[in-house]
Amino acid sequence: MEAVRGKSVYGGVAIGRAWVYDKGDSTVKRQHINDTAKEIERFEAAKETAKEQLKNLYEKALKEVGEVNAQIFEVHQMMLDDMDYVESITHMIENQNVNAEYSVAVTSDNFSEMFAAMDDDYMRARAADIKDISNRLINVLQGKEDGGISGNEPVVIIADDLAPSETVQLDKSKVLAFVTRHGSTNSHTAILARTMNIPALIGVDYPEDIDGKNVIVDGYGGELHIEPDEILLDKFRQIKEEDAGKQKLLMELKGKEDVTKSGKRIKLYANIGGVSDVVSVLKNDGSGIGLFRSEFLYLGRDNYPTEEEQFQAYKSVAENMAGKKVIIRTLDIGADKKADYFGFDAEENPAMGYRAIRICLKQPDIFKTQLRAIYRASHYGNIAIMYPMIISLSEVKKIREIVNEVKAELDSQQIPYGEVEQGIMIETPAAVMISDILAKEVDFFSIGTNDLTQYTLAIDRQNPHLDDIYDSHHEAVLRMIKMTIENGHKENCWVGICGELGADTSLTEEFIKMGIDELSVTPSAILKVRDKIRKCE
Ligand code: PEP
Ligand code: MG
Repeated sequence: MEAVRGKSVYGGVAIGRAWVYDKGDSTVKRQHINDTAKEIERFEAAKETAKEQLKNLYEKALKEVGEVNAQIFEVHQMMLDDMDYVESITHMIENQNVNAEYSVAVTSDNFSEMFAAMDDDYMRARAADIKDISNRLINVLQGKEDGGISGNEPVVIIADDLAPSETVQLDKSKVLAFVTRHGSTNSHTAILARTMNIPALIGVDYPEDIDGKNVIVDGYGGELHIEPDEILLDKFRQIKEEDAGKQKLLMELKGKEDVTKSGKRIKLYANIGGVSDVVSVLKNDGSGIGLFRSEFLYLGRDNYPTEEEQFQAYKSVAENMAGKKVIIRTLDIGADKKADYFGFDAEENPAMGYRAIRICLKQPDIFKTQLRAIYRASHYGNIAIMYPMIISLSEVKKIREIVNEVKAELDSQQIPYGEVEQGIMIETPAAVMISDILAKEVDFFSIGTNDLTQYTLAIDRQNPHLDDIYDSHHEAVLRMIKMTIENGHKENCWVGICGELGADTSLTEEFIKMGIDELSVTPSAILKVRDKIRKCE
């Protein structure tokens, strides 16, 4: 039995097997093979297993994200049977007496280079698919399990660090908790743990041989217990039961209104990162979606999501919310949310760099594809849009011009769309200071307190050494929130909070006094905040 201290980024208790996250950077070695016929058999068997995995993934994706998004797994199955690809691998094994892993890796490099050099966007995009199917084959040949997490039993994910692009790829139904050596309280991986309503610890110096061991993640005390004895297990099983009891009590608030004792009504919405989070919003009775972090659709993949893929995702969320408000935040990529295919240079200060609306305004093609998808989806529900990282009036004006171009294009193609409320995120001190001017231009403000704290206090939200002074309760932040609400209201612009502070019930009363109209919180916090709102004057 051993205990290691860390820092909790989300409460709760998890008990299960530790599973060390493999970054997948294992190298392939060239080996001499005498029995090439047997090696070809080994390759053929791996190919069948890979196809079986893809078939299962197709079926899972079909249920979770729809036909259009699932199709890629069918395409990958077909690619695995491509004659040229298969012959290149088997010929190499036969003629050069090399192992299957090596033949697959070399063929993958050759084919993907060939596709990447082609003068056609569609064919160039196939380079990533070749790499993807080849990595799958190599993993099978090396005996690694599909989807990273082995077996069907959910596990505690242990990692050095986890980037948002890595967390989005994990099969969420198999994750009991996150434990990382690095990372910060305000990172997007921490936010994801909150969305998933599972405990998470950071800064845990876990032992190297932890893989497969039984562990307890104590999200309240900030401790990881390795190979606990029965007494400790009993203690934590009891805490889990008590948690379940409290959750059951909160569930009684389902269907109740979000209204204070004096009759002030608050819009209590939810933050999501993808289509599958809607289940949790509905389960916790959210009245709408106040922040759909659309950039998660761009992460953990090898190329831009197409207009059609995005349209299907937004439409699915809008339809499932059945007329309730769905606020889609346009692409907020950059800083810790990175995707290689954007091809960005490394930056000294990525949080203050080329990110979010800055990218969209400099690369309007990316922006327009997303706007078209959102507008098309608006025909199927109650969609609003908001734009991240705004610092100036000219940005808002440029956005409006592009939105008008997109609407004109859709009109000329006779594609229907709905009334789409326009909002901006207030997450820079600049936006707060000119909120009186900006309020004249938009329908609503949504205050992003995570970034607003970062930029107001000049504290990198990703830096674990500064977690203790990253203080969202700082008077400067609270004054900024108050100023934004006042300036918004003078121009009939409603104001919400979608940063993590929105779920902080120690401030709910103060926000209501300031006049807040909406709070958008992680789905698992909805009922806790409802409870608080109903107790406020
Ligand atoms: C914020 O900054 O408060 C916010 C909601 O956006 P994100 O956390 O995705 O940067
Ligand atoms: Mg932000």
